[in-house]
Amino acid sequence: MIPASDHATEPALAPGLYLVATPLGNLEDITLRALRVLRSAARIACEDTRHSQKLLSHFGIAAPTISLHLHNEKERVAPLLDAIRNGAAIALISDAGTPALSDPGGYLIAQTIAAGLPVFPVPGPCAAIAALTASGLDTSQFLFAGFPPHRAGERRTFFEALAQHPATLIFYEAPHRILDSLTDAGAVFGPSQPAVLARELTKIHEEFLRGSLEELRANLASRDLIRGEIVLLIAGQPANATVDAESAPDLAQQVQALLAEGLTQQDALKRIARQSGRGKSELYREWQRCKGRS
Ligand code: SAM
Repeated sequence: MIPASDHATEPALAPGLYLVATPLGNLEDITLRALRVLRSAARIACEDTRHSQKLLSHFGIAAPTISLHLHNEKERVAPLLDAIRNGAAIALISDAGTPALSDPGGYLIAQTIAAGLPVFPVPGPCAAIAALTASGLDTSQFLFAGFPPHRAGERRTFFEALAQHPATLIFYEAPHRILDSLTDAGAVFGPSQPAVLARELTKIHEEFLRGSLEELRANLASRDLIRGEIVLLIAGQPANATVDAESAPDLAQQVQALLAEGLTQQDALKRIARQSGRGKSELYREWQRCKGRS
């Protein structure tokens, strides 16, 4: 149901840029304030006007729209800032969730602030926060890391930089890359590291998988098809923790994988030492023993 409102008596919005969060899937998640701001805005900048038109039509919102995406954001800024200077309220929405979070808008927001004009958050749905709060993992500290890189080598380096972080780590991932990401995360954080996968949040097929990185990987690998939108969360490392040597992959396998990526033996051992917290000379001796056995 659309909440009743008397447009005529609604106070006009103050001029500025309004960052309006929109539903991730369930339309009931729109907030009353989001509806009022979208109804009253002079213009709504949308990541994709056709996509957002469905949401706007559903709620009977007729404000004019303009596209603002990664490829035209820079050229859109000047006319939008001029409109705000002339007294307009401009709303910014993305396809789903909170604008500017792994979505367009960051440049416009920075330029609006630099121009001394007001920016108003209109908070609401956000996949990272929805997944975190229902994950059961520690919420006292978290680090939103966005999408992991697509290339295997870069992805491992990206995970390695986070491997000793004490905060719960939050990643966005596409369904066709999640198995690769879980495999690489298992190699870096250790396969037994606790993790949660949140899929299709707020939609009919919403699902949470909770277990170790290896359990999540095995679960998804057993499916014919992996669909939907995904948030992956990995538990942070308790202070002074190192990757569990028992559960970490065999040293020989780790070194071979890094050599195959093009690292030298010395760099491979350095990297393993960094991510496991073990001494370089200890690892070097173990590696010599592995080579002696093969
Ligand atoms: N700005 C959005 C937000 O506030 O969450 C995120 C936009 S980003 C381009 C899209 C990614 O967010 C998806 O690939 C997925 O990782 C995550 N996501 C969005 N909706 C989701 C949902 N309903 N369930 C799980 N993850 C979702």
